[in-house]
Amino acid sequence: MSIRTAQHRVLSTLNLDGTRRWIRPTLAPGRHWSRRRLVGWLLIAVFVTLPRMTVGGRQAVLFDLARREFTLFGATLYATDTLLLLLFLIALFLGIFLLTALYGRVWCGWGCPQTVYLEFVFRPLERLIEGKARQQEALDQQLVPWRRLVKWLAFLVISFTLSNVFLAYFVPVDTVLQWASRPPTEHPQGFAVVAVVTALMMVDFAWFREQMCVVACPYARLQSVLVDRQSLLVAYDAGRGEPRGKLRKAEELSLGTAPARGDCVDCDACVRTCPTGLDIRDGFQLECIACAQCADACDAVMAKVHKPAGLIRYTSQAELERTGQARPRLAALRTRTVLYPTAICVVAGVLAWAIASRGTAEVTLLRGVGAPFTVQSSGEIHNLAKLRIDNHSGADRQYHLDVEGAADLRLVAPQNPWPVARGGTKTQNVFIVAPAGAIHGKRKVHVRVRDGATYDVVHSFTLLGPN
Ligand code: SF4
Ligand code: SF4
Repeated sequence: MSIRTAQHRVLSTLNLDGTRRWIRPTLAPGRHWSRRRLVGWLLIAVFVTLPRMTVGGRQAVLFDLARREFTLFGATLYATDTLLLLLFLIALFLGIFLLTALYGRVWCGWGCPQTVYLEFVFRPLERLIEGKARQQEALDQQLVPWRRLVKWLAFLVISFTLSNVFLAYFVPVDTVLQWASRPPTEHPQGFAVVAVVTALMMVDFAWFREQMCVVACPYARLQSVLVDRQSLLVAYDAGRGEPRGKLRKAEELSLGTAPARGDCVDCDACVRTCPTGLDIRDGFQLECIACAQCADACDAVMAKVHKPAGLIRYTSQAELERTGQARPRLAALRTRTVLYPTAICVVAGVLAWAIASRGTAEVTLLRGVGAPFTVQSSGEIHNLAKLRIDNHSGADRQYHLDVEGAADLRLVAPQNPWPVARGGTKTQNVFIVAPAGAIHGKRKVHVRVRDGATYDVVHSFTLLGPN
């Protein structure tokens, strides 16, 4: 079978014959890179220390899947809080839309864990052990590239450590620390999670790398609809840079025979440093993660050729095309940048109100299924009710059930007081028993549910009886 080659490059990370083009970006330590590194290290510090932080005596952030509880800085949502979780997700997505409308893919270049860990943990370690891009390429030819083996071992140690930290977002941190000090056979499920996450990190950071941004990440695919002409992006100023050309010889310049050229000296420094293998001079590309490494590389070149910095810079399409009506600093007010914050305020307001008014339990009292009432041979009238309690109090509770203000009525339940675990939901059938002749048609009663601490509410219920 013959292999056909493409006429033009289809993807920045593919060769013309369809094989993977390995990207080994050169380092361009400019001002953007220094700031990104600072932000990246801060984010790593937050990620590592957050599981150890507590708010109100509870872990600050914990997605406890076993208990089906989600704790975020003192507020706990349970699996039964579907509406609250939905509102939270809507607010989160609207926030992402707003961030993208204003700052384009700045999240990808500055905050995404994929970029942060690859560019500021794994790649620096790779350069330290394997050397620069050329030395790394030379290792490809070696039969036993021991430096690469050392690198993989270092990657494995880091991935395993990060996997344990990751686990502490889903299992209480004290449990994770306890597991870490005991053999895996005592906690096979936790160990399996750590092993799988470690393996995924190894595959991602040692092999898949920029492919995540280029072909896999759904956020990247949404860029074209989330940004507009005023959104921030990293772009090449073609008006200033073109026509590009190599540096001219001094004699050529002194004779005045050199053709008039733009500022781009066609050195390819911006291409060699790009972590997704792009040439930014080809225009806006979905694979660009707005990391500005090309801007740093180009600024260094401009300094050498005594030209002003900023041939590649953070800008917007509108500013670049000099439309005059939308410079980035003035372009914050647009339809989408007004609509998104408005929607976020509304959703966040409803969410805050719902959490504040939620109470420590949700009690539902419904008529039981089947006959609405039964009359016993003794003449007693039994009404069946279905009682459901969602315990949101953050502690295990015992709920006491009584009929209020009706001495002739009795509430009969399988369990009273009724234990409901923290975050748990329980349903049981209860009978409200009335003496013969105590109900004619309908009778309204009040059922009091209290946990002796934070919940004490009277619920109305209508008893039915013979007419
Ligand atoms: S083109 Fe520039 S900003 Fe975009 S990913 Fe490459 S280096 Fe980063
Ligand atoms: S680094 Fe600057 S000067 Fe060099 S090729 Fe890129 S845009 Fe042109």
